[in-house]
Amino acid sequence: MSFNIVSAILQAWRARGRRLTAPRRAVLAALARVGCRADVQTVYRLARRLYPRTGLVTVYRTLELLVQEGWAERWEDGGVARYELAQPHHHHLVCVRCGFVARWDRCPVPVRRGTKVKGGFLVTGHRLELLGYCRRCREVRR
Ligand SMILES: [Zn+2]
Ligand SMILES: [Zn+2]
Ligand SMILES: [Zn+2]
Repeated sequence: MSFNIVSAILQAWRARGRRLTAPRRAVLAALARVGCRADVQTVYRLARRLYPRTGLVTVYRTLELLVQEGWAERWEDGGVARYELAQPHHHHLVCVRCGFVARWDRCPVPVRRGTKVKGGFLVTGHRLELLGYCRRCREVRR
């Protein structure tokens, strides 16, 4: 699924004349593989496995570039920046006790991108997370 967005990004970068360096491609491939809400160190570790000469600065810059261009999303989570690709669209189930994050593919928000609400507010997207207790934490609580 995620290889679609990766090739779309590479195509867009090529069209804009961005240099598709090996470290940049490694960061992109790493981000596509790490899944939900990866911190920079996790992306860095995997990117280096894919291309050992990938530098940490390139990881930061590429992630921020992806966020600016709308390909990726960034969350601040207790002072830690977390990233993931924005497509395919999905949401998260977040355990408030242990921080476990699960992917939730159902989207309950009926308002589409490009819709205008409340007298002219143009909707470009949405964020949603469901908070609660994961199965393990539910068992501990009893
Ligand atoms: Zn996710
Ligand atoms: Zn939990
Ligand atoms: Zn949604």
